[in-house]
Amino acid sequence: MSGGQFQDNAVRAFPERLGTIMAELREQFMEREEEIGGALLAMLAGEHVLFIGPPGTAKSQMAKAMCERLRGAYFYYYLLTRFTSPEEVFGPLSLSSLQRDEFRRRTEGYLPQANIAFLDEIFKANSSILNSLLTILNERRFHNGSEVVKVPILSVYGASNELPNEEEGLAALYDRFLYRFFIANVQDEGNFLKVLTDTGGTVSGTTMEVEDVDRIKEGARSVTVDEEVLQAYLSLRKHFRSQNVYVSDRRWNKTLTVLRTAAAAMGRSKVDPTFLPLLQHMLWDRPEQKEGLRDMLIDLASSGGVDLRRLQASSEELLSLLAKAKQSSVSDAQFPRPVCCYDCGSTFMSAKELCRHGESFPNHVYMDPYAKDAKGLNPSYRKFELPELMHVLENVRGWKVTCLRGGAEHRLYERELQELRAAYQRVRETHELERGELRDRLDQNIWLSQRDRRDILARQDHRLESMSDIERSLKEVEAELKG
Ligand SMILES: [Zn+2]
Repeated sequence: MSGGQFQDNAVRAFPERLGTIMAELREQFMEREEEIGGALLAMLAGEHVLFIGPPGTAKSQMAKAMCERLRGAYFYYYLLTRFTSPEEVFGPLSLSSLQRDEFRRRTEGYLPQANIAFLDEIFKANSSILNSLLTILNERRFHNGSEVVKVPILSVYGASNELPNEEEGLAALYDRFLYRFFIANVQDEGNFLKVLTDTGGTVSGTTMEVEDVDRIKEGARSVTVDEEVLQAYLSLRKHFRSQNVYVSDRRWNKTLTVLRTAAAAMGRSKVDPTFLPLLQHMLWDRPEQKEGLRDMLIDLASSGGVDLRRLQASSEELLSLLAKAKQSSVSDAQFPRPVCCYDCGSTFMSAKELCRHGESFPNHVYMDPYAKDAKGLNPSYRKFELPELMHVLENVRGWKVTCLRGGAEHRLYERELQELRAAYQRVRETHELERGELRDRLDQNIWLSQRDRRDILARQDHRLESMSDIERSLKEVEAELKG
């Protein structure tokens, strides 16, 4: 028995079955890879999903198909309008109970008895149904007359053309949807033709039991969370605070439950950083936050706990220290040819002489030493002020103009370089080791989309590239110290 896996055979068979269910649904609904994965995971975790997008994008069919994968589950669909009455959603009043002076609804075939519900135009919900709806979403309870009953709802999938306005008083309802997806029309032409010629016949496929959902939920309770993931949560929280985005503790908590459920459904006992991209559909509030959030999650998932930025910053700092140290001391090495002052005609054979002259005559300008190659004096050739001339001599001509102060300072830089080199080696080794492991983990994680996998690996490659940048900086430092 390998450590960290559930022993229960039934639970162990889940990843494969869930993978098959997702593959079948993705075949049926083109270009809905992330939505299908999210909706399925939300169903297992007991969360609600909001689909925002134009009508006719197969949102309700998708929800229905999802429900059909749960054997014996009851699917409830309703298109809300501003005038929808409680009877239409929660069931008609029972006449026999009215005769006994009781106020009860007959809920068979209505929302209080559904396992999966699809509520179209959810934000049209009016005040007469909003409270009962919120109670069902939050507490999974329904107040039927004087009785409070538990409802079997797993997930409510809500759909809307657009996000609710802030003044509509629907913030509480919006907040109940942990998962949020924008859904567009099918983009690819081939996929569009498939949708066009689809006869809409029901596709039979792989199923699971409602009880399986309970078992996964139960398993999720004992799933632990990697220290790296917790650190990532702290970074995210800090990020949102700095952006003045409010995420409630309750919401944070729910997201972690979803990650735990995702791990449990895969037969894992631990949430590792490859689960972090799943948060991209849960933590944004306004659409403009979506891209930045995803980018951050991809970064966190690929970082492997190594802070490359710090290493890069240190090597850059060392380089700039060296540059400053060099600037402060002027070399007395001989120039290959003299430099001439335009104002007084004096000539200089080293940077030291040049600087001494510059201190005495700060307003004098100098001629380009190579300008003399041209016949006679060309009135248009450039004259340089001293700092500019020094820069040209050093960087364009490659002459020796500045030098490092010797002795103690030199040794200090050398020691710092050695330390940086050692840190760099360590990081490089972990990174290469991790790349193989990361790829395996990504391949095994059934909840990630192709796009997530691809982007995480690309980010990892990019990090390897920035390591080459660090390597280059370190080499430069080395050359400076030798030179
Ligand atoms: Zn002069």
